[in-house]
Amino acid sequence: MPSSAVEALETALRERVDGEIGFDAGSRSAYSTDASNYRQVPIGVVVPHTVEAAATAIEVCREHDAPVLSRGGGTSLAGECTNTAIVIDWTKHCDRLVSVDPEDRTCVVEPGIVLDELNRRLAGHGLEFGPRPSTHGQCAVGGMVGNNSCGATAQRTGTTAQNVRRLEILTYDGLRCWVGPTPDGELERIIAEGGSRGRLYEGLRRLREEYGGTVRERFPDIPRRISGYNLDALLPEQGFDVARLVAGSEGTLATVLRAELELLPVVEHTTTAVLGYSDIIAAAEEVPAILEHAEPLQVEALDDRMVGFMRAKGLHPDSIELLPDGGGWLMVQLGGATADEARDRARRLLDGLGRGPEDRTVRLSRSVGEQRRFQATRESGLGASTRAPDMPDAWPGWEDSAVPVEHLGRYLRDLRGLFDEFGLDDPSFYGHFGHGCVHVRIPFRLESAQGVRDFRSFMERAADLVVSYGGSLSGEHGDGQARGELLDRMFGPEVIRAFGELKSLFDPAGRMNPGKVVDPGRLDEDLRLGADWRPRESETRFAYPDDDHSFNRAVMRCVGVGKCRRPDPDGGVMCPSYQVTGEERHSTRGRARLLFEMLQGHADSPVRDGWRSTEVRDALDLCLACKGCKSDCPVNVDMATYKAEFLSHHYAGRLRPMAHYSLGWLPLLARAAQRLPRAANALLHAPGIAAAGKRLAGVTGRREAPPFAAESLQAWWRRERGAQPDPADPRTVLLWPDTFTNRFQPNVGRAAVRVLESAGFRVAVPEEPVCCGLTWISTGQLRTAENVLRRTIGRLRPWIEAGTPVVGLEPSCTAVFRADAPELMPESKGVQRLRERFWTFSEALLHHAPDGWDPPALGRAAVVQKHCHHHAVMGFQTDLQVMGKAGLDAEVLRSGCCGLAGNFGFERGHYEISMDCAEQALLPAVRDTGPDTLVLADGFSCRTQIEAGTGRQAVHLAEALDPASGEGGAAPRPADGKVAGRLLTGAVVGLGAAAAARYLARRGRMRR
Ligand SMILES: Cc1cc2nc3c(=O)[nH]c(=O)nc-3n(C[C@H](O)[C@H](O)[C@H](O)COP(=O)(O)OP(=O)(O)OC[C@H]3O[C@@H](n4cnc5c(N)ncnc54)[C@H](O)[C@@H]3O)c2cc1C
Ligand code: SF4
Ligand code: SF4
Repeated sequence: MPSSAVEALETALRERVDGEIGFDAGSRSAYSTDASNYRQVPIGVVVPHTVEAAATAIEVCREHDAPVLSRGGGTSLAGECTNTAIVIDWTKHCDRLVSVDPEDRTCVVEPGIVLDELNRRLAGHGLEFGPRPSTHGQCAVGGMVGNNSCGATAQRTGTTAQNVRRLEILTYDGLRCWVGPTPDGELERIIAEGGSRGRLYEGLRRLREEYGGTVRERFPDIPRRISGYNLDALLPEQGFDVARLVAGSEGTLATVLRAELELLPVVEHTTTAVLGYSDIIAAAEEVPAILEHAEPLQVEALDDRMVGFMRAKGLHPDSIELLPDGGGWLMVQLGGATADEARDRARRLLDGLGRGPEDRTVRLSRSVGEQRRFQATRESGLGASTRAPDMPDAWPGWEDSAVPVEHLGRYLRDLRGLFDEFGLDDPSFYGHFGHGCVHVRIPFRLESAQGVRDFRSFMERAADLVVSYGGSLSGEHGDGQARGELLDRMFGPEVIRAFGELKSLFDPAGRMNPGKVVDPGRLDEDLRLGADWRPRESETRFAYPDDDHSFNRAVMRCVGVGKCRRPDPDGGVMCPSYQVTGEERHSTRGRARLLFEMLQGHADSPVRDGWRSTEVRDALDLCLACKGCKSDCPVNVDMATYKAEFLSHHYAGRLRPMAHYSLGWLPLLARAAQRLPRAANALLHAPGIAAAGKRLAGVTGRREAPPFAAESLQAWWRRERGAQPDPADPRTVLLWPDTFTNRFQPNVGRAAVRVLESAGFRVAVPEEPVCCGLTWISTGQLRTAENVLRRTIGRLRPWIEAGTPVVGLEPSCTAVFRADAPELMPESKGVQRLRERFWTFSEALLHHAPDGWDPPALGRAAVVQKHCHHHAVMGFQTDLQVMGKAGLDAEVLRSGCCGLAGNFGFERGHYEISMDCAEQALLPAVRDTGPDTLVLADGFSCRTQIEAGTGRQAVHLAEALDPASGEGGAAPRPADGKVAGRLLTGAVVGLGAAAAARYLARRGRMRR
């Protein structure tokens, strides 16, 4: 569209649509791609507040002749959710469960509702929406309808189209109506009524009459014919079902405003038989026999290559250990009204297959937890096979073809032959084998001209192959741009003509998600990479050792799965800012997209000013640097590091936000302030003065500054202990005096000294100032962070050379030495040696105590806020073991990030987001905790946030275990200086008033 037309469209949308309108580079970048190989920059983005507002947006688009693309979770794998169009994101506001009818087993929903959320709300009725894609935590019902999604459970439930009763649709021309199965009488009535609806139905009836025979002939009779439009839904034996026709049309026919869904009772009892085979082809060959002997709920497959990837990435170690012997596996789930019935069905299946439950190639899994873990293992296939160690990058494209199950084994053999012919390594096979659907990610070389040519040739050959077996190009994910062009090979010219006529009936102007399914774009155009992709390379401060030392490759990690868009982190952390804002650009994926566009690899990249981009800065602004993504994202996107890298370039040679100086330089400021801690506290808490100071410092006025301790840990150590132990003594450990422990809560450090000594350690505390540089890293002052680290390494030299282990109390500082510093200073031997010898407090006690550690018997309940960096970098298992050993009945809260996250929650403009994060789960859980239960939190930020939000004092594990504190209590925190502060303000005000009075009196005298 010409820019003047775009401007007019934007103005009209802003004036008339109740919603958020984004035509800026940030919004357009964030929505420029889905989980596929394709990328098209949108014209603009609309996030409607209501369904009616979305309908108005479409009306405005029609008036301005602008194409429209609806978007749910944006997890499409074939390019159907990327377009140069107005993107309507339904997920933020249009996500209501409108009604449930438990008797009729139906519900009505808005299109933006996420599947897991819907099923959570239905659980009370014992009902669920059956089809369950692996993306169930983030895919939206609108997207499921758009793609006719399936998933493992479709073996029992059928596809989404088969579970939709009615849809409320809106065509581009403005026809709005509910559609569904249409008995003959009703069909005649609608046609007789005329109008746009009558004309549409009349056209559909004509299509049925003209093409019905061809459709019967050319549509493969398999459960996973997802490719093409569902023209078969119009056949009389299918009840002229217009809802089923629209389902799977990938937003190219009409917009779905509401959906009435059919629900199924939740299967209460299941048993999973995990069966091992010599290889994946042998597994595929047994599927028909399995279907003969049982009616399974799921028949899922994975191969030894996939298991190898998972091992290499440390994914699902528990489930992998439980797999029976074999090089390929089927997970066959059976259900029953009782647990015994489910088990008996599994046994009967084994009998039928000539196997027994005790065979080494069989594992009968009955516990719910174990079955869930097996499912999660299979569902993580895509993430596991992407960026696998020592493997080229693998991509979607030929990812979900399906064939009749009786041909599955032969099809896989031929597909392997094709891989060999194209030199495409040996990709891993997995998928929904019970429905003949095969998943495979293939190492196409999409960055070179030859690679792109090979991609096209492979796709064409694979299409012919699957058609030769009577299969479908897509057995699950839809056609999009990857398969649209190949549909004629599967359906022949007549059906393709019918598809074109169907599209013209619904969308004569061709404005609904153009270029997909009908008149498709070429499969080798609009690639996210492609032969012309030329990203800017630049020097970076971090080394990116796992990304070939390239920031560009690191940014490309994100494959768009959208796990970072889960409204509920489900025990993980990622991504707190998305959970609170519900905005794409505040998800890990959205940020990765902006950074990708910042590389300016494409001529139409919306972000034009590289590291100086304010759009990228704004998207990264709400990243809490919690590192949740580093562990929870299937490909370990490490946004905290990318943010630090970005900030370092963005502000190079320029004035930074004040908070970068006040909070980034906190260790130095705190050191200075602690020369006179009482005066500093009084100043920080003096009404008026403190507020002015916070404003100047770029710090929120809504938080109290944490008070300085009267005496730092290091000063206490010098006073109390004097001589340091011998660094070479194997019992010696160096306790890390992080700024938070040292300057604000030295009681934690003192408790740690006592606990470590009780375990036989000889504890040393560095006497000179040392620092990990955390606050400089998180504010992107990376040169300074390096200098700080270099100085610290110099001061620790005798200890490092002697190999003295260091014990960290503050998880974020420990994580710096375990993860950030080695990447920032890969050449520094001191840093590398520190990484190897930097223990957590629990690791020291559990694994290294010289005399064996004999914990106090606390015998108490505790709720635990796990620090994000524990979660992402160090792991938390050892801490749990320590708690167990000390008799703490610990409940780890599923609360994600506390929201304060170091400097984040103190910075001006972040207060609300920070508190909203905490209010999601952490603070309510602490408020619900009885007074006798300990609240444990090793992070200074977590403790501060808990205290600010609930008034409850949380303690570090060291305090809980400290013999001197008695029954896991906490020492009193430093006084906050409020009284002194008020006195100070009073004194300043008093002095000011006196001076003013004197001045006025003198002026008065002079006048007289
Ligand atoms: C790792 C991974 C695993 C996957 N596993 C599975 C799986 O097991 N089974 C499976 O079936 N799929 C799977 N998929 C594909 C994808 O997740 C599913 O198709 C999912 O249901 C899409 O939902 P979404 O909300 O992300 O849709 P989107 O990608 O947002 O949209 C999908 C299509 O629906 C259209 N659409 C969205 N909303 C509307 C609306 N209101 N009106 C009209 N059209 C609309 C869009 O325009 C688009 O064409 C997987 C994808 C990934 C990345
Ligand atoms: S950041 Fe990770 S979880 Fe989020 S979309 Fe990208 S790959 Fe998926
Ligand atoms: S570091 Fe945390 S807030 Fe930032 S993108 Fe990752 S998960 Fe989200």
